[in-house]
Amino acid sequence: MRITAPIFRFCILVGIPFPSLVSASEPVPQVKPLSLQDHTSFLEGVDLPRAKPHVSAVNYSNEKATSALSPTCEIPRAIFSQVLPFDGERDGDAACGIADPIELTGFQQEGSKARFTAPVTLSCSFAKVLTDWLIDDVLPAAGDLFDSPVSVLSSGPGYQCRRRNNQPDGKLSEHALGEAIDISGFRLDDGSQISIEKDWGTDTVKGRFLSAIHASACKRFSTVLGPDADPNHKSHYHLDTGCHGKTCTYLICQ
Ligand SMILES: [Zn+2]
Repeated sequence: MRITAPIFRFCILVGIPFPSLVSASEPVPQVKPLSLQDHTSFLEGVDLPRAKPHVSAVNYSNEKATSALSPTCEIPRAIFSQVLPFDGERDGDAACGIADPIELTGFQQEGSKARFTAPVTLSCSFAKVLTDWLIDDVLPAAGDLFDSPVSVLSSGPGYQCRRRNNQPDGKLSEHALGEAIDISGFRLDDGSQISIEKDWGTDTVKGRFLSAIHASACKRFSTVLGPDADPNHKSHYHLDTGCHGKTCTYLICQ
C-alpha cells in the first residue's frame, strides 16, 4: 500500500508508528466500487465491516441495556428517533455500543429537508457535530454552487461493531461507538448526483463543492479521510471525532 505524505507527516508530528492501515506487511484490500445506494460496503482503512445490527426503538431487548432511554437528545435541526442504549455483547464485542444512540434520518432548515438514503445509527453527541456540519457548511456550499438544494445524502450505517484489520485485538473503530460516518455522495433536488468517487478532484463545480466541504469537515471532525488518504477511501469521506495524540488535539485531514 502506498504510504501517503500526509500520513507520514502526521506520524512524525505525533511520534507514533505508522497506523495499521499503512502497514507494509498488509495486503492491499480489494475495494469494491460503491453505488450511491450501497449502505453496507464502506471500508475504513482495512476494516472489514460486519452486518449492521438491527436497532429498534420499540422492540429492542438486551439484558444489559438500561430500561429507559438515555437523557434526552436534543438536536433541533435534525430529524431522528432516540433508541435504547446498547452495549456490544449482542455483536460479540463488549467494547462496542452506544450510551446515547439515535437513528438519524435527516435534517431540516427553514422549510427545506434532506434525508439520508437509510437511517443512520449514531451517538447523540456525534450526530450534533454532523448536523452542524451538514446544515452550516454543506448546505451553504451547495447553495453557492448549485441551482438546486441538497435533498439526499448517501452514507454508510454509522454504527458498526468492528475493529481495524478485523482482528479481535485490533484497535476499535470509531464506528463501533457510533462516533463515525461514511458519506459517499449527495443528490440534489433536481435529481443530479454528486459522487465522491466520480467527482472528487475534477475541475468542475461538483469537484469544487466536494473540496470545499472536505475542508470544512476538517474544522469540525478530528478525522477526515477522503480519496487522497488511501485507496479505501476513494469513494467516500470517513468522518469521526476520535482522539489522536495524548491530549486529543491532533487532527487527521486527508
Ligand atoms: Zn468509516
